[in-house]
Formats: sequence, C-alpha cells, structure tokens
Amino acid sequence: MARNIFDLTGKVALVTGASSGLGAQFAKTLAEFGADVAILARRVERLEEVKKEIEDKGGKCYALRCDVSASQNIKDAVEDIIKHYGRIDILINNAGVGGNAPAEEQTDEEWLKVIDTNLNAVYYFAREVGKEMIKNKYGKIVNVGSIHSNAGMLPLSISAYCTSKGGVQMLTKQLAAEWAKHGITVNAIAPSYFESEMTASVGEDEGFLKLIQVYCPMGRFGKPEELDGALIYLASDASNFTTGQTLSVDGGWLAI
Ligand code: NAP
Repeated sequence: MARNIFDLTGKVALVTGASSGLGAQFAKTLAEFGADVAILARRVERLEEVKKEIEDKGGKCYALRCDVSASQNIKDAVEDIIKHYGRIDILINNAGVGGNAPAEEQTDEEWLKVIDTNLNAVYYFAREVGKEMIKNKYGKIVNVGSIHSNAGMLPLSISAYCTSKGGVQMLTKQLAAEWAKHGITVNAIAPSYFESEMTASVGEDEGFLKLIQVYCPMGRFGKPEELDGALIYLASDASNFTTGQTLSVDGGWLAI
C-alpha cells in the first residue's frame, strides 16, 4: 500500500473564520483527511451548518463563537478548544475582511478593522496556539495571505488590505525562523481571487472580470476546492521541511 503523507488522522485542527467561504472549505477538507476540527467565527448559525456537514460525514467538529478583533477573545477561544480536545496541532489562520477606501480618505476605524482582523488576530492566534505547540514540540501553522501580500492592484483602493496581507507574509517568515527549533512549521497560502462572500460583489462586476483576464494568466476566479492541495500539503507531515514559505495559488497571477 502507498504511504499517505497527507493523512491527518488523530490531529486537531483549528480553522478561524470558518463560517463561510474559504474557511468553511478548509475545515471540511481537513476533516475529510482525518483531522478533528475546531471552527470559529461570529455567525454561530453558519458555523453550525459547517459542523453538521462535517459530522454527517463521520468527522468531529467543535464550533464556537469568537470575534477575533480582540486578543482576549482569542485567548479565551484557544483555552476553550484545548480544554475540549486536549491540544491543537494545526492552526489555519483564515479569518479576514476586505476593505475598500481611498487611502487619502480612509478613517482610522476602517484601517484598524482590517489590520486588527487580518494581521493582529493572525499574530494573537499564532502566539496563543504557538505556546501549546511549543510544549507539544509539534505544530503546523498555515496563514492565509493573498496575492496582495506581494502586490497592490489598480483601480482598487485596498491599502489596509494589502498592508495586512504583506504583514502576514513577513510574520510567517519570522515565526517560522523562531519556532523551527520547536518542531513547528509556519507557512502561508496566497490565493488570487476566489469565489466567496468577500468577493461576491466584484465577481459579478463585468469591469472587474475583464481586469482579472489581464492580471491572471488563467483568466478566472479560483474555486475554493482548488486550495485543497496547498492546504493539505502545508497542514500535513508532507511539508515537514518546508517553513516560512508563502505558496501562491493564483492561476499564474504573480508569474507576470
Ligand atoms: P468570507 O467568505 O467573507 O469569509 C471570511 C471569514 O472570516 C468568515 O467566516 C467570517 O466569519 C470571518 N471573520 C471576519 N471577521 C471576523 C471577526 N471579527 N471575528 C471572527 N471571524 C471573522 O471571505 P473569504 O474569501 O472566504 O476569506 C477568507 C480569507 O481568505 C480571508 O483572510 C481573506 O482575506 C483571504 N483571501 C480571500 C481571497 C478571495 O478571493 N476570496 C483571496 C485571497 C485571500 P463571521 O462573519 O461569521 O465572523
């Protein structure tokens, strides 16, 4: 029988922002590969739908409400999950928001909402879960960046979003360096535009779809399941000697 280096049986995985979009897909895929999952977000009823789908297929899922924009909520949620499962082996730092405001007019609130959710929460989760992973001498952290970790885009007004995702990429590198000695890998996935609630409005905009044809050699939005391979590679022992990397899944966006 062939070895299965992607098997996640017996592992506990936490996915933040799993009530919709990519996070919901990540949680279902991790469960499909054998992990017991914990999912969190603000919309509890949507989390319950994801939980039911996982459990209907025989998986284990623990769902809890958490607003990731405050670090105390993150501390409490991590404690709660560790109480429930005993440990966390895999952290998928996915919760995020978009932001669309011309840089010269953006308010402090608009800026901070994006930075708190997309960057600060990623660090707070890594810190709280990282402490546990260090004790266990094992961990897989997968942060969700973006093509906007590396490049801006016109005519959009996304300075806060680009800054947050650029920060995620750099945080990924430094955490990888600091925690390599503890048996923890820290990597990121950088998607281009994928179908989700966040992109629903631009996904129907003819002008934006034309723009995608210019920016993206494959000329289309990605489908959430097209991230499964990158996710499972970075969350499993298949990637044990890979750390600090940002893996672009972008239809060739950053190739041109
Ligand atoms: P989405 O469907 O809008 O999902 C965003 C998720 O984040 C939801 O589950 C939402 O849950 C959660 N979230 C947002 N603010 C939160 C908060 N304060 N506390 C807790 N949870 C919060 O969008 P998506 O496209 O799947 O985005 C997921 C991640 O992928 C984000 O980091 C995004 O930047 C990144 N990304 C997306 C694309 C794309 O094209 N779709 C491309 C590159 C990167 P609640 O609203 O229930 O709290």
